[in-house]
Amino acid sequence: MTTEEDARSVVLAKVKPLRNEKVKLLDSLGRFAGQEIFASRLLPAFDNSAMDGYAVQAQSCGEGAILRVIGEQPAGADRRLTIKAGEAIRIFTGAPLPKGANAVIMQEDVRREGDTIVAQCAAEPGEFIRRAGCDLVVGQKILARGERVTPQLLALIASQGMEKVEVGARPRVAIVSTGDELARPGAIPEPGQIFESNSIMLHALTLRAGAEVAFVEHCPDELETMTNLFRRGLTNDALIVSGGVSVGEHDLVKPALRALGAELDLWRVAIKPGKPFLFARAEESLVFGLPGNPVSAFVTFLKLVRPALLKWSGAADHLLDLPRISARLTSELVNEDRRPHYLRGRLEDGAFTPTGRQESHALYGLSRANALLRVDAGRKFSAGENVLVETLEL
Ligand code: AMP
Ligand code: MG
Repeated sequence: MTTEEDARSVVLAKVKPLRNEKVKLLDSLGRFAGQEIFASRLLPAFDNSAMDGYAVQAQSCGEGAILRVIGEQPAGADRRLTIKAGEAIRIFTGAPLPKGANAVIMQEDVRREGDTIVAQCAAEPGEFIRRAGCDLVVGQKILARGERVTPQLLALIASQGMEKVEVGARPRVAIVSTGDELARPGAIPEPGQIFESNSIMLHALTLRAGAEVAFVEHCPDELETMTNLFRRGLTNDALIVSGGVSVGEHDLVKPALRALGAELDLWRVAIKPGKPFLFARAEESLVFGLPGNPVSAFVTFLKLVRPALLKWSGAADHLLDLPRISARLTSELVNEDRRPHYLRGRLEDGAFTPTGRQESHALYGLSRANALLRVDAGRKFSAGENVLVETLEL
């Protein structure tokens, strides 16, 4: 059986980042930068006032000093004003600092009397002035290739006057769930049938991984229908299949792929839940066969499909996996299995507690989980021990 790490490498070796596309800033949100950006403008762009108040020369603005107000500088057009000792200019937040001024005194700290002000305290040199370039200098790197675009990065890019940014293109994915026992939500299940719940989960996970979904279809356990549906799926970057990858007579994913001439790269990975995971290639497309048990499908998607979708989208290597943070265990945990076990649990206030039953069909516990904990084969953790958990902020 292939280890999880080897399986991940086999998958990622087959994924080449897609082309870049130039998009409007908002459309780049959550996507991965396809270009490096260096600052072309200083931040602040020029010396300006941090407060509504008066621009002064600090040395002539001791406590009780009387200064003559000789003009006004609002934010916006630079009036190119100049002050000398004993003078002040009414100034507003963000307004360019008049020539000769070296401090701003807050309006709360003066008393206005006609066209003079009386300082209620001394002004310190440099006080309430935002110096040009103190935040960002020209040439400084503001975006790295492969970095995820966040709202705060968008603000910085916009501050440079840019309207568009290059990001990696999104992969297109087809999703096929399989199984005769499954009824579509909204339909009336026959006796013995259950509602199909993997496709909505995989659809949502795929969208959250930033990929486009070409179609989502359900397929009965019937070879010809499945082969035809897969053929249609293979016109995309990836085909994600749920169910039908085990060893039973009704597990037809492998026969269908064989009929399409697919090359099978992986089948069975040492991961719990998720052992029957399958990975194949056909028609320039990658096929991910996920086990039908809902938790297995969830875990194998996050461990072996999501990294591929992110790599296609141009993500840097260090962003392919779920973010990890340290947490304290609320109970003892043991893995007596020979495969690493991904426990689903809740991370709250720095403490991790498994949620619900930890079997591969147990959907309720999964639904309450916001973190995964990998417990290696044979590993035992004590209550109170610190571990690294993977967060599910998907
Ligand atoms: P399979 O991998 O096809 O053998 O399915 C394993 C288990 O997962 C069975 O109990 C199936 O009923 C269940 N299952 C398979 N596909 C789905 C699905 N799309 N939604 C919910 N349960 C599923
Ligand atoms: Mg099945």
